[in-house]
Amino acid sequence: DLINDILDISKIEAKKINIEQIDCSVNQLLAEVSHLMSIRANEKSIAFDINLKTPIPAHIVTDPTRLRQCLVNLIGNAIKFTTEGHVHLTVSFVQDCEKPQLRFDIEDTGIGISNDDIGNIFKVFKQADKSITRKFGGTGLGLAITKNLISLLGGVISVESVPGEGSTFTLTLPCLPAEANC
Ligand code: ADP
Repeated sequence: DLINDILDISKIEAKKINIEQIDCSVNQLLAEVSHLMSIRANEKSIAFDINLKTPIPAHIVTDPTRLRQCLVNLIGNAIKFTTEGHVHLTVSFVQDCEKPQLRFDIEDTGIGISNDDIGNIFKVFKQADKSITRKFGGTGLGLAITKNLISLLGGVISVESVPGEGSTFTLTLPCLPAEANC
């Protein structure tokens, strides 16, 4: 994982990362994410589920490999930093703005992030505090990679958190439905 993270961040910094824009089935993508993440959540006895808040396009144009990598990173973190409770992925299709957007909210009931730390977590090699590596492992690269990839996909990422209660990371991607098939 560490080697893959370092390769990804190096490629991003060298602007050598290839982003595809291909037709992708949202259901298939979510099924793959669900399969991978349910195993990890089960191991920690944390409830993990995916909810569709609105009807969503069956197919979108994006880079499915990179989008899956971002979702796996964020949900993997949510599970890692949660000891009890749940991790929910909520997906919605937002049409109330100029460009339709696909929105992913990853909500956990984990340790949360303090106001002092929240501004740093998307930076390379940054973890919230020094005890994080000792307690949870990790490299501090996952969120930097995710933020860059989301930006290359044309989207944005944001986070809200209450220490001791949990965090919600939100990804929004401009959504070009592959066909008119919402
Ligand atoms: P890593 O997980 O390898 O430490 P990341 O770049 O993925 O690195 O995350 C950076 C830091 O952000 C983490 O070390 C942790 O302090 C904080 N963080 C990320 N996701 C969460 C979360 N869901 N809950 C609490 N803290 C988080």
